[in-house]
Amino acid sequence: MRAAVMYVAGDVRIERVPDPSIVEPTDALVRVTHACICGSDLWPYRTMEHLDSGRRMGHEAIGIVDDVGADVRTTRPGDVVVMPFAFSDGTCVFCHQGLHTACLSGGFFGTLDVAGAQAEAVRVPQADGTLFALPIGRDDALMASLLTLSDVMGTGHHAAVVARVGPGKTVAVVGDGAVGLCGVIAARRLGAVQIIMLGRHEDRIALAREFGATDIVSERGDEAVARVRELTGGLGVDAVLECVGLAQSTETAINVARPGGAVGRVGVPQDETMPASQPAFYNNVTVGGGPAPVRAYIDELLPDILEGRIEPGHVFDRFIGLGEVPDGYKAMNERESIKVLIVV
Ligand SMILES: [Zn+2]
Repeated sequence: MRAAVMYVAGDVRIERVPDPSIVEPTDALVRVTHACICGSDLWPYRTMEHLDSGRRMGHEAIGIVDDVGADVRTTRPGDVVVMPFAFSDGTCVFCHQGLHTACLSGGFFGTLDVAGAQAEAVRVPQADGTLFALPIGRDDALMASLLTLSDVMGTGHHAAVVARVGPGKTVAVVGDGAVGLCGVIAARRLGAVQIIMLGRHEDRIALAREFGATDIVSERGDEAVARVRELTGGLGVDAVLECVGLAQSTETAINVARPGGAVGRVGVPQDETMPASQPAFYNNVTVGGGPAPVRAYIDELLPDILEGRIEPGHVFDRFIGLGEVPDGYKAMNERESIKVLIVV
């Protein structure tokens, strides 16, 4: 089959690789119909050291179950399924707690251990706990929005949940990528009254407004902090969604929170240490977050997509075939595209 393989920063190729097969009795094989390129794929695209064997990329997909292992009970061949970016058994203490990304039997797709989903097929460990069967056909018009349940919509929602967004709250979203934009959707959905998007790209700002952003702040650093304070009566916001992961964005996120506020971090941190420790401390700001347990959120978010109340699929602004994946990475890296959808 064909799959995306990254060898070194800037070098991702579509290559022939062996077809996946059932390894564990809890596995399923999924024929991928739709996949994506993620903002987090851009970190290795910019920094990865050379690897002879390459890394099989991709962690977001919708597909059709082809085959299942002997111990798989609920997942059936023919099911149209969404594949969250992490696999999980659905039965351990952390899965029961709703934190599937900490599953004791879990892990992540598109790593050196588990092959990715930018491919014609993918082996899915812990199939019963991981895969979510969708009540749709493979060509459903809602496909783009449903595909965001595998990562960006669930991740934006997680940032909002961790930041304790609720009715009447004021919110700032740091980061105008697909996750930040989905964070705007999540904040509005949870009842926020003011949603300030920190971003500066015309197309992304327009989309943020469509999704429910009430204010746009295009400044950066201290100027951005001052502007957010100005927009909130000098107080800062109740809730901040940090959707980038860089030191400066994290510092801005903590500094725009009002005393007693909360920051939900979902941008993959690029540094060992966290900035703005003292403002966080003196303002009693709660800073939390991590890999979003998107599997836990599908039940809650799915009806809103099926019934048209939210349309996160609008974050996709480029549609390509598997063979064009190298161009897709380039377009996202150069910010010519917000998010790329791969029709396999
Ligand atoms: Zn588990």
